[in-house]
Amino acid sequence: MEKEEKKSEPQHYFKLLRYVIYFFIITGLIAGLLMGIVRKRVGPDVQVIIVWIFIVYENGVRSIATIIGFYLTYKYLKSSKGKISRFRRISFCSLSISFAFFYLILPFILHFTEFYLALIPFPWASLPFQAPITGGYLTTSFTDHLGWNGVIITLYVYYIYQIITFTGTIFLGRRWHCSMLCTFMGAHGEGFGEALPLIPHDKKRPKSKRVHPKIRIILLLIQIFIFILNSFLIIIWMIFSFSGTALIPVETLISIERTKYLIFELYLMLFLMFFVGGRGYCYYCPAGTLLGVMGRLVGQQITTGLTECTSCGLCNDACKMSVDIMAKAEIGEPVKSINCVGCGVCVESCPMGNLQYTTTFLTKYHKRK
Ligand code: SF4
Ligand code: SF4
Ligand code: SF4
Repeated sequence: MEKEEKKSEPQHYFKLLRYVIYFFIITGLIAGLLMGIVRKRVGPDVQVIIVWIFIVYENGVRSIATIIGFYLTYKYLKSSKGKISRFRRISFCSLSISFAFFYLILPFILHFTEFYLALIPFPWASLPFQAPITGGYLTTSFTDHLGWNGVIITLYVYYIYQIITFTGTIFLGRRWHCSMLCTFMGAHGEGFGEALPLIPHDKKRPKSKRVHPKIRIILLLIQIFIFILNSFLIIIWMIFSFSGTALIPVETLISIERTKYLIFELYLMLFLMFFVGGRGYCYYCPAGTLLGVMGRLVGQQITTGLTECTSCGLCNDACKMSVDIMAKAEIGEPVKSINCVGCGVCVESCPMGNLQYTTTFLTKYHKRK
């Protein structure tokens, strides 16, 4: 009897996690629709209500759902596998703290709900440079709540965040931001990823996280397109923010930004949870692309050959970024991929203890010890 109860425990957490994911998807669709489309078509009174709903969703619902996701994922892994690696526990904690601090605690203390918009690495989004504009495509309260000093503080926070992100990446690789700080798909991918994709890719291996090669090609094309578009938009907004010269009319820019947000950062991101998984957006995230290249430059890799590879394929099944770890592990070569977000799930999944995440700095640090 006790044995049966134990057996059903992981499934119980898995089911709860799925409910949280469906709740996350439905509320995300409603909030995005209201803010991105409906808000511009209604009177000022209804606009106030929509903005309020969006703030509650963005700061409250999204962060609380993700933190619950971390808890359920932790319980699921603990009850099904019996152990969780040290780094994954660190990752769960730091991502939860990052979320709670920037989305719940800081907005509460500062009475400023859009603080998190400054916490995005280049070239992800141009939002900090839209701070002086009232009524940007997503912003609601930049200038209204904090005045011009607030705008300047927002820009300072943005630059400090860039320095923290890129300096940390030099030492720890893409892991630093993508698996420890990111409150977008870094947090959602790790908090919900165990129960995703909602529709499995491979019926023979339903738990496999690998994405079909044809879908990966589509995601690669989107990655190139979005990287170029975002870099272009950020440069145009920066020029506008510092010199006041609008190379493209501001209304046109806002409408491009709104369309981009709705298609790629909301609907496609949520849609990919069905077919790709919790890290779907990370395949084409512009910041992730840059951090991935940086990771390669700082020697980020998965070391193989620590023990013996039995070609079980568990590492490949576990990788949400579809990196082919096994092919390299079989011949004892390091895995170097700009897609690797440094989540450490492959390392944890290898029953032989054959894998290790490292960078040039980490290798030197461990040798010294
Ligand atoms: S790739 Fe982008 S969305 Fe994904 S974790 Fe990294 S910064 Fe966040
Ligand atoms: S290769 Fe390993 S560490 Fe990198 S993304 Fe895949 S599972 Fe995570
Ligand atoms: S999980 Fe370990 S043993 Fe299995 S294929 Fe990967 S590296 Fe080899």
